[in-house]
Amino acid sequence: MTYKNYSTEQLRAIDNAHHLHPFTDHKDLRQAGTRVIARADGPFVYDTEGNEILDGMAGLWCVNAGYGREELVEAATAQMRELPYYNAFFRCTTPTPTLLAQKLAEIAPDHINQVFYGSSGSEANDTALRLVRHYWALEGKPEKNIIISRDWAYHGSTVAATSLGGMAAMREQLYGAVPNIRHVMCPYAFELANPGESDHDFGLRAAKAVEDAILEAGPENVAAFIGEPIQGAGGVKIPPESYWPEIQRICDKHDVLLMLDEVITGYGRTGEWFAAQSMNIKPDTITTAKGLTSGYQPLSALLVGDRIASTLVEKGGEFYHGYTYSGHPVACAVALKNLEIIEREGLIGRVRDETGPYLHEALQAGLGDHPMVGEIRTFGLLAAIEVVKDRDTRERFQPEGSAPVVIRDHAIANGLMMRAVMDTMIMSPPLIWTKETIDMAVDRIRKAFDTAEKELRQGRR
Ligand SMILES: *Cc1c(COP(=O)(O)O)cnc(C)c1O
Repeated sequence: MTYKNYSTEQLRAIDNAHHLHPFTDHKDLRQAGTRVIARADGPFVYDTEGNEILDGMAGLWCVNAGYGREELVEAATAQMRELPYYNAFFRCTTPTPTLLAQKLAEIAPDHINQVFYGSSGSEANDTALRLVRHYWALEGKPEKNIIISRDWAYHGSTVAATSLGGMAAMREQLYGAVPNIRHVMCPYAFELANPGESDHDFGLRAAKAVEDAILEAGPENVAAFIGEPIQGAGGVKIPPESYWPEIQRICDKHDVLLMLDEVITGYGRTGEWFAAQSMNIKPDTITTAKGLTSGYQPLSALLVGDRIASTLVEKGGEFYHGYTYSGHPVACAVALKNLEIIEREGLIGRVRDETGPYLHEALQAGLGDHPMVGEIRTFGLLAAIEVVKDRDTRERFQPEGSAPVVIRDHAIANGLMMRAVMDTMIMSPPLIWTKETIDMAVDRIRKAFDTAEKELRQGRR
């Protein structure tokens, strides 16, 4: 490949000169420089300096089937040869999005049978927002258009997706959000539960915040509630078991639609195809992307429940919405093959019965007693470790968010890619991880915590 004619230093210099990176402090990056990831295989990525790094984040929560899947390469090339592109506008379709839609209807909860495609999770959430509001307009209730979301929600980075999101700093840079979106507390027991409050009670209280917001706005004005089953980028916040059933009850009671953002949790990460199945809830829309193609192609699928779809079909009238690449044939070919691999290799059952439970055990055994660990949470192959200065008081290191960055840097230096969100370390490994891979990861995390602790307690960082 042509990049091999360039040295790492040259690539860094060119990157610095021309490339504006996503979610980046550009001043900071230009001083620090970038790591150039040049290839990957199985669970590992390799940089141009020859470092082998175990990818604890599956890229960005997406490479569920792992790297180096020749079958996905073949699916893409075969499709590109035959038909690289055609659209699904003006009464046309192509075979792969059609067959993928059928497959998605098969694996989705029973009441979900239709699909709207885009190229990213953000786009899919734009579609979802427009679709639920359009649904109520078609039902003769255009005033029913308020969406309830939550603090720390991440729904993507377009204007609509950021408006739905609940990251305060990110929302500030909207300089004007999409109107009629409100935010309530999230089910983050570690920081928000009252002393002595049980997990169960806290879950009900966090759900009641949603009901309070619905009542305050007037149910006749509320279109939908949107939430990630497990808040991902916000810090792998896993709600108590009482939370989602109560949300479902509240939505049903007030005739408010339930929009689930499963961009991270979809396609096996929780040990079922979708977290809606793990949590036994009946969303009206499910936003999916990331793991749908294991990141080999950009593709999103908004799964649309029968209630909304049948209104669209029965009432008719054009829904003025879609993307040039809605149902891209190459991306859909890759998705079909990716789902086939996940099924054939039994990756979802493995997460549910074997690697998911083992990840929890191994983290507990390796880090449960660490003086800097306040809590370990896992669900399927999602994990969070709360970083504290004092286990008993749960006091954090200051300034906020500083300690996990030190741990993260050591983890990467030890050959494990993981992320820091505020004061939480998070992981979202590929579904191909085995018990051995988990042991390797936990060992590297433990070392990173130990080294970071020495530095932090001696005030060297
Ligand atoms: C990543 C993510 C998105 C946005 O997806 P993009 O493909 O980056 O636009 C939306 N929702 C959740 C829960 C995500 O994790």
